[in-house]
Amino acid sequence: MADRLAKEAARSDGTKYGYSRILISAIYREAAEEAILKWQEQWTKTSKAEATKQYFPTLMDRIWTKINLTSKLTAVLSGRSKTKAYLYRFNLREDVKCICDKDDQTMDHLFQCIETRKQRDWTKLHLSKQKNWLANNLELITK
Ligand SMILES: [Zn+2]
Repeated sequence: MADRLAKEAARSDGTKYGYSRILISAIYREAAEEAILKWQEQWTKTSKAEATKQYFPTLMDRIWTKINLTSKLTAVLSGRSKTKAYLYRFNLREDVKCICDKDDQTMDHLFQCIETRKQRDWTKLHLSKQKNWLANNLELITK
C-alpha cells in the first residue's frame, strides 16, 4: 500500500493522498531534543552545580549514565554531603579537619584533597564506564 502510494505520488504532480500527518513519536522526539538543547544551554551558563559538573560535564553525560541513586550518592554528586565543616556549624561535630589534616573538611576541599582523590577518581571512572557502555550499545541498537 505504502509503495503504491509513494509511486503514485512520484508520478503525479498532485495526489489525493497528501501527507499531512506527523507521527506522534516524531513530535515527542523533536520536543525532547529541543528540551535537552535548552537544558544544556542552561547547564552550561549556570555557575551553580559545580560539584555535579565535575562528574557530569554535559547534560548528555548524565542522561547516558544509568545509576541507582541513593541519598548518599546524591549528596556526593550534588556537593551537599554532610562534611565535618557542615556538621560543625550545627554543633554536631567538634573538629572540622579533613583526614589529610591540611584543611577543613568542606566540599571544596574534598574535591581537591589528595586523600579523597582515589574515591573521586573511582566514582568518575565508574560513571564513565556506564556512560560508554550505554553509548556503545545504543549505537549498535540504532544501526
Ligand atoms: Zn583533605
